[in-house]
Parts: sequence; C-alpha cells; structure tokens
Amino acid sequence: MVQSQLSPMMQHYMETKKQYPDCVLFYRLGDFYEMFFDDALTVSKELEITLTGKECGLPERAPMCGVPFHAVDSYLNRLVQKGYKVAIAEQMEDPKQAKGLVKREVIRVVTPGTITSAQALDETKNNYLMGIVCTDGGYGVSTADISTGDFLVTEVSTDRELFDEINKFSPSEIICNNAFYVSGVDIEELKNRYHVAVSALDSHFFGEESCHKVLKEHFRVGSLSGLGLEDYGTGIIAAGAVMQYMYETQKSTLEHITTIKPYSTGQFMIIDTSTRRNLELVETMREKQKRGTLLWVLDKTKTAMGARLLRAYIEQPLIHREEIIARQSAVEELNMNYISREEIREYLNPVYDLERLIGRISYKTANPRDLISFCNSLEMLPYIKRLLGEFSSPLLKALADDMDPLEDLFELIRSAIVEEPPITLREGGIIRDGYNEEADKLRAAKTEGKTWLAELEAREREKTGIKGLKVKFNKVFGYYFEVTNSFKNMVPDYFVRKQTLTNAERFTTDELKQLEEIIMGAEDKLVSLEYDLFCEVRDHIASQVVRIQKTAKSIAGTDVFCSLSTVASRRNYVKPAINEKGTISIKNGRHPVVEQMMRDDLFVANDTYLDNGKNRLSVITGPNMAGKSTYMRQVALIVLMAQLGSFVPADEADIGICDRIFTRVGASDDLASGQSTFMVEMTEVANILRNATRNSLLVLDEIGRGTSTFDGLSIAWAVIEHISSPRLLGAKTLFATHYHELTELEGTIAGVKNYCIAVKEQGDDIVFLRKIVRGGADKSYGIQVAKLAGVPESVILRAKEIAEELSNADITARAKEIAEVSANIAQRKVVPKPDEVDMQQLTFFDTVKDDDIIKELSELEINSMTPVDAMNTLYRLQNKLKNRWKDS
Ligand code: ADP
Repeated sequence: MVQSQLSPMMQHYMETKKQYPDCVLFYRLGDFYEMFFDDALTVSKELEITLTGKECGLPERAPMCGVPFHAVDSYLNRLVQKGYKVAIAEQMEDPKQAKGLVKREVIRVVTPGTITSAQALDETKNNYLMGIVCTDGGYGVSTADISTGDFLVTEVSTDRELFDEINKFSPSEIICNNAFYVSGVDIEELKNRYHVAVSALDSHFFGEESCHKVLKEHFRVGSLSGLGLEDYGTGIIAAGAVMQYMYETQKSTLEHITTIKPYSTGQFMIIDTSTRRNLELVETMREKQKRGTLLWVLDKTKTAMGARLLRAYIEQPLIHREEIIARQSAVEELNMNYISREEIREYLNPVYDLERLIGRISYKTANPRDLISFCNSLEMLPYIKRLLGEFSSPLLKALADDMDPLEDLFELIRSAIVEEPPITLREGGIIRDGYNEEADKLRAAKTEGKTWLAELEAREREKTGIKGLKVKFNKVFGYYFEVTNSFKNMVPDYFVRKQTLTNAERFTTDELKQLEEIIMGAEDKLVSLEYDLFCEVRDHIASQVVRIQKTAKSIAGTDVFCSLSTVASRRNYVKPAINEKGTISIKNGRHPVVEQMMRDDLFVANDTYLDNGKNRLSVITGPNMAGKSTYMRQVALIVLMAQLGSFVPADEADIGICDRIFTRVGASDDLASGQSTFMVEMTEVANILRNATRNSLLVLDEIGRGTSTFDGLSIAWAVIEHISSPRLLGAKTLFATHYHELTELEGTIAGVKNYCIAVKEQGDDIVFLRKIVRGGADKSYGIQVAKLAGVPESVILRAKEIAEELSNADITARAKEIAEVSANIAQRKVVPKPDEVDMQQLTFFDTVKDDDIIKELSELEINSMTPVDAMNTLYRLQNKLKNRWKDS
C-alpha cells in the first residue's frame, strides 16, 4: 500500500493502527465506530456485520464495517469475549467546530482481562488479568481484577504450581514475558483449555527498574518493603508488568487499586486441575454449570461481593488450624443467633456490588442511577454494623470494626441527587432542590419563565382578539406564536413571521424573544451546572475509595459467613473438630451435592475412618453403580469443606488437616491433547505419586481400568504398595477398584483395610444398599447391573453362559501369582528406596514379558475379533497354560 496516496484521514488511521498492531481499532467517525482493511474483514466475520467499502485515495476502496456508537458496548463485549483486544479511537473535538481533520486519539484499550463494562462481567465471578514472568528459578505471578481493585502477587517454583494458580483464578487474560512463551509450555493448549487470551508483551514491561518505579509511584511509597514485597523478586516484576499494562490499556490513574496483597501458595490447600474438575467445586464437569457443584450448595449469599468471596474460599481451603477454627466460630455464633443472622441477611439484600460500583465511580463512568444504587446500599450499613457488633467471635468483630458506615457519603448523595434520576448526564434532572443555591435560582427562572409565558400568551390573545393564540415550542425554532390561517388577517405588525405552514403561520415578538433567552439560558446553564455538581459528588466519593473498599470487603465476609451458617442450619451440618494428627473420622457423612439433588431423604449416610497408621488405605470394592465414587468424593468434599471453615454434612466429624487432595476419578479421553484414556490416567497417577505427601488425601477410582486386566491389576497393586508404604508415601487413600483380587492386600500390607458397598441379592436381581461395610465384595454383579441398565434379555442370558464358561479361566490365580512373586521379591530385598521402585517393577514385568502366552495375548487385535474368535482363542490359551502347568 502506498501510504502517501491515502486520504489524510486514512493516513491518520494507519498511523494510529501502527501503534496498536495487536488490537482491532474502533475508529470514531460521526455516529459510528468504523473498522478498515483487515480489521474490517475480521470484525465483519466475527460479529456478522455487513462489510462495505470506503474511498481511501487508493484505486480500490478500503474494506470497511462499522457499529453505531450508542450500541458499541455490546459489539465490543462480544469481540473481547472472543479474545480480541480493541483500541478505541475517539473524536477529541466537536467535528462541527474542528478546523480541518477532526482530532482523534485512542482513549482506551479494552482486553478480556481489563474490560469493566457491567454488561460483560459476571457479577458472581472476578474477572482476572494475570501476569506471568518466567525466569530460571521459577515464576512470578500477579493477578488483578480491574473491576474490583483486587491485586495479588506470589511466586512459585514449578510448572505444576503455576498451573495450580492459573486454575485457581481462571484468568480471562494472561500477559507474560517472552521467556514464558518459549519455555516449552504449550500456549495453544493453555488458551484452549482455560479459554484465556495469552500474549507475550514487549520486554520494556518487565524491566526491573520500571517495575519497581511504577509500583512505588502508584502506591506512593518510598520502598517496596512498605508493601510487604521485600522478599519478592520475580513477583515484583510480574506485578509491575500488570500495573503498566493496566495503565496502558485504561489510560486512567487507577485510583481504586489501593493495595497489593502478597501471598504464599503454602497458605492454602493445594488442589490440582483435575481434582478441581473431578470434585466439581465451582462448575460441573460436563455442562460447566454452577448447579450441581459445591458452590451451588454453599452459596446462599445475598451480594455479588459475597458470592465472589465464597468462590475464593472454595478455591482456596486453609491449612492452618487456628484460621479454620476462627471461621468456624463465626459460623457457629451466627448459627446460634439466627434471628440476628436473618436480619443481617435482610439488610444485605439491597446492597449492590460496592466493589464494582467504586470501580466505575473512579473511572468516572458511573451515572446518576449508579450513585442512587450506591446510596441505597450505604443506607443499610449502619444496621449491619450494629448487628455485627453484637457478636463476640473475633472474625465477626473484626468485620464490624472494618465496616465504615459511610454516613457522610450517604448524606451527600441523598441531599444532592434526586430519587429517580435519568441515566444520562447531559439532560439535567439530576440534582435535588436545595442542594445548590445557583441551581435553585436557575430552576426558579425556568419555572417562573413558564408563568411569564402563560401571562404573555393571555395578554396577546386579548390584545389581538385571536382566539386560540398559543405559545408553542420546538427544538429547532424555539418559542413561537402559532396562528391558524383563518385568523391570519388579525395578526398585528409587531408579530414577526418565523415560519409558514400549510394551515398556519408561526411568529415571534420582541417580548417573546426576551423571555426565550431567559428561559433557554437558564435551562442550558442549569444542565451544565447539574453536570458539574454531579461530577463533583462523584469525584468526592472516588476520593474515599479506601474506606469504601474496606467496607465492601467486610460486607463480603459478613455475607459469606451468613451464607455458610444458613446452609449449615438448613442442611443439618455439624461443626467438624480439626486435628493435626492426621485422623479423618466421619460419622454418618453425606455427599453435600448428591443429597441435595435427591428428594425425600433417600441419601444413605456412611462412616469413614482413615489415619496415618493402621487405616491408611481403604480398598473399596462393590459393583458398578453401588456408590463407590459418590462415597469417595463425599469424603474429599467433607475434608475440603471443613478446611474452608464450613460445617459439614455428617453427624460428627474430626478432620485431620490435609495439605493436598488428589483425585483420580473416572476415565475420560483427553481428545483435545490427543492422549488416550490410559495415558491420561497414568499421567495423573504419576503426578500423584510424585507430589503427594503423608498429609495428603488421595481418592483413586479404578486405577488401571484403561489397560488390559493383567497390566491393570499389576499397576493397581504396585500403586497401592507404594502409597501405603510409610517409607515411600504413606498418604491416606480411598482406592475403589473392580479388581477383587486387590482385597488380598489386607493383612499383607500394614495399613490396608477392605471395605465394600453392600448390595443385596434378590433372586436374579440385586438391590443397592449404598452402605459401606468392612470386607471385600465377593462378586462383581456386572451382569445384574447390565440388566438394570436395560441391556436386552437375550444378551444378558448369553453373557451369563459365557461368564460360567470363563469362570474356569481363573484370573484370580494370576493375582495370587502376583502376590507370591511380590512377596518373594520383598523377602529377597530390603524395602526399596523411592527412586528404585520403577526399576524393580520393571524387573518383575521382565520375567513375564517373553512368555509366549503373554506375548500372544498382548498382540491380539481384539477389536477385529468376533466373540466366537475371542472365545476360541481364550480356550486355546487356557489349555496351553494348563498343559504347561501339568508338564511342570
Ligand atoms: P459407582 O462409583 O460404584 O459406580 P456411583 O458412586 O457413581 O457408583 O453411584 C451411582 C448412583 O448411586 C449415584 O448416581 C447416586 O445417585 C446413587 N448413590 C450413590 N451413593 C448413594 C448414597 N449413599 N445414597 C443414595 N444414593 C446413592
């Protein structure tokens, strides 16, 4: 493209675009924001709007599309939600008054992590922007929510910890240094998996000096130790980059970002990605909905701030006993004083999202109605504070202390703004009578002017004798007398014609002109004065941001504790004891979500006992559908609820604090990353074995299911050996399996106990009792479950026949064989060191690898075999084996 041939406006467009190459440029032209060239092609496709063209000085017209300025938000939001960044170039002067080209400037860049429009944000969720700085020694991670002013920073040393943070916050945008982009992390996978926009920023964002400077200047401190950041090296760089990025995109002073909070990942329980998903903490696995999750059960919050904080509590359970107990006491006290609690909840009802409102107030985008919502919320504060003050739990007391009733701001808004103001700022009608003398005077002039007009109208009607002579008004001609044609000849000389219509004429007089000037002058002056007064009020509120944010946090906390208490009372939860000796003892525990999904108290409660000694690992057997995974998730959820400070669904509970919860539940193909079910399963097992500690809780469902029975059983066996060995791991574990052979391990390995979920046989059918009992299940009841599921009768009958035949081919014999082999290995060797384990398992497998029967088995193309082929092959292999045993 030859730049010099472009029209002057297009040249300016191109220059602006050059400064924002990674953004779509919305370029204001009159009543539209227009996009040109590639941007126009992209946007017309993404938003399905018509592509047109514009003369631009080149032989061909420039592709163009546009959106009307009054509806820009909805287009902008859609584009940003798709991951685009949008730069908005505004007209900086009135085109009517501009000499030459209208001055245009980019006033804001809107990106997924920095969008603030209320329309685009889910009020129950934070919208996070995350900065990641990758160095040789680890990562600096800083997370900010521009809409609420939250700003956090931490450092982590491994990829896994980094992904735990990404998971915890699920940011909508990540900015990072180049080193992160080339560190081997699969950026495309990151984008797809977490629906996050990721971009590497220019190195100037990550300069040590500039990062220190921007933080010191923003928070007005001489040294970063004043912010508690002295021990954060890469953290500061991440936070500095986020701060600079926010300045560059928002082009505002960001006064509502008043604090930065350093935290250590060691303060919270670690929950990895798949565990969060499996336990369905805040969204369900399939539909990605809130209904059916732990959050859904626990969320009885009344405010958006409370809803966001509760989500954060669930995402970050605590690991320090005193902190957990402090939260429990708050919930307990609210339970006991439920009348006050209900009263507080009533007062919370009308409280708006103060955090986001103050954001908009600081940004100067809050309109008069926003201030009224704000004021209505403030009205509740003194009542809430008074009620909270009656409590003695330290946390509730602290919340009461932190709550500033903000009465001055309430009074200010109440006295300044009318009860039902318009949304717009430029049409007046905002300021109350009596708030400002000058405004009152102008208002009087306006009303008196109207009386004068009425008097003039009466006078002229009498003087001229024209009946029906009326003073009228329109925006183009102002005030005028209207005379219908039938009275035309009665019009006196001093009436000056303004306009002729078909059946009437319009006139003015000197007196009318004078009145018009007074009235219109007063009107214009009043509108502009009201605007100024409104801005003054808004700016004053903005200057009180620290007090408001503190109060908002306190409201959020109050709301969360009231919510936890309400759920605890309604659902009959109990306060769990919290111990540090590692025992998990639950009497009549229930699954919080499943019990709520069921009507009529059908849920069967179950006990749990795990410790770090004789009851480390429960092997849980039982047919499919018996309730194994429900039971295991229930235990994990009860532990998690206890650690976030909630009461739990049980009759009694004593919970040993867990540093991490790991789950390996169900087998789902990870198609996105092209990994097979088994590969995913083993990757997760590897992660668990590598990262779990003695204080972790492991929930393992059907390990080894994704491969052949023989391999699967052997892997499950070896995993149990590893986990239950106090020298190697010794973590508390629930291990559900359909390999009944694993029940052999009780008595062989210390700490392993068998449990099964009871079923009752009724003739050919089974009844699920849902009760967990000691001992192993003796049958798998697969065919009965298939029958229950509605598999046709003929198939069920045939399956029974086959099962009888197969029972001769006793796979249990192989399991016994494994037990013997492993016992022999154990006798011959001292207990292996962790890093020797893999090698030893390999030697064991090596002994059977070359066996021709095993080889043939492993090479069978099962998918292409008919059932009859399969049966015949099995018979043949079995006979071969029997003969061999006979021979030996
Ligand atoms: P499994 O893991 O053994 O195949 P699930 O845990 O998936 O079985 O449970 C199957 C169904 O049984 C669940 O969908 C649930 O509705 C029901 N269920 C499980 N546990 C209970 C219980 N304790 N009380 C009542 N119903 C239960």
